[in-house]
Amino acid sequence: MYNRRKFLKTSAIATTLIATAKRGMALSKSNQISGNATLPVVISTWDFGIAANQEAWKTLSAGGRSLDAVEAGVKIPEADLKNHSVGKAGFPDRDGHVTLDACIMDEQGNCGAVAGMEYIAHPISVARAVMEKTPHVLLVGDGATQFAVEQGFKKEKLLTPESEKAWKEWLKKGEYKPVINIENKSYDALPGNQGNHDTIGMLAIDAKGNISGACTTSGMAWKLHGRVGDSPIIGAGLFVDNEVGGATSTGVGEEVIRNVGSFLVVELMRQGYSPTDACKEAVNRIIKKKPETAKNIQVGFLAINKKGEYGAYAIQKGFSYAVCTAEKQDLLVKGDSHY
Ligand code: ASP
Repeated sequence: MYNRRKFLKTSAIATTLIATAKRGMALSKSNQISGNATLPVVISTWDFGIAANQEAWKTLSAGGRSLDAVEAGVKIPEADLKNHSVGKAGFPDRDGHVTLDACIMDEQGNCGAVAGMEYIAHPISVARAVMEKTPHVLLVGDGATQFAVEQGFKKEKLLTPESEKAWKEWLKKGEYKPVINIENKSYDALPGNQGNHDTIGMLAIDAKGNISGACTTSGMAWKLHGRVGDSPIIGAGLFVDNEVGGATSTGVGEEVIRNVGSFLVVELMRQGYSPTDACKEAVNRIIKKKPETAKNIQVGFLAINKKGEYGAYAIQKGFSYAVCTAEKQDLLVKGDSHY
């Protein structure tokens, strides 16, 4: 729990930070909040966040820890064979490898991640094992798989017949072009089954007020072998500071990494921005740096603050996120957007 008096006593830097916070309050024009909730609360990206939240809610409503809730929650889309952008059945890279990225962060600032990991269906649980059982934060590629197997995770083929068919179809043209808001389109409707992507990012505050987050994806379909996006990168795809709040992202990861997106959102909330305004400012930085690129890509941020207020903002229309609280169990919110 944030103890302001203790903070003031122990740190001379505190004065500067608080002055910055006040300036931030003044900067936050609309202080727009998309929603607020009594604790506990869990939010997550895209429509598939509804089922994930329901699973997380089992832990949260029983008074459990937010870390356990987010891990259990995102395992639902990881295991969903109809979901081709997260976990098993994720679309492969251009060489036919399904490589998964995930990270997790708890209320004490502990974090763990895996990137480019093959053959393990639940990268979020391996990320948690990295956090809890090693002195490291990030394991990649074969090393991540080796660690997972040593920890007792099952090694299995992740490329499903449907994903393989889609990949072979894609190979005919080999065009790499991310599709915006893929989750709203059926697989068959994709023109030429072009590159596509999505991530589940989940943020939860438990009944004790502790915040954790999880983020997991198969990344951009048909990516170069070895490509890693924002999702397993702490500060880019996910960031949690238990004094302030948490943020996560979805969309073209390269642009999120370039702007250290989720860390930026949390720092803006620290300065007094509402969750929505913080997400909007982070999106605006991406657009300002590369306005032409931004016209044709999607990036969305989702954030929650310590009070349980939440919000989102994306470059393109159509970014949805799911909310679950004691009052609203299956709420799907359309996030605000630049275009
Ligand atoms: N952020 C993910 C990546 O770049 C993909 C997505 O969320 O759409 O790998």
